[in-house]
Amino acid sequence: MSYFESNKAWSERLGSYDLTKTAGGAVVFKFKGQPEHFACPSCANNRKLEILQDNRTMSGKFRCAACKAEYPINPRENPSPIRYPRNEFP
Ligand SMILES: [Zn+2]
Repeated sequence: MSYFESNKAWSERLGSYDLTKTAGGAVVFKFKGQPEHFACPSCANNRKLEILQDNRTMSGKFRCAACKAEYPINPRENPSPIRYPRNEFP
């Protein structure tokens, strides 16, 4: 594949993503189709599309498995107040 052709293929791949600012404040690539997912902007600079994985923590961060960068995708959750079980006395 010539340089020009690979350049074109890359542009087409990246064309299915939009650069977007997430609710958590990170600027990442968002896939236009389904399933909804985000791609690492740092890896995109190296012409790699790496899908960000949800850390599933309260900080709302997603992590790139390739370069280990973390991005605040979801708004940070406030921890809900802890409810202690109340002892019921007669
Ligand atoms: Zn990355």
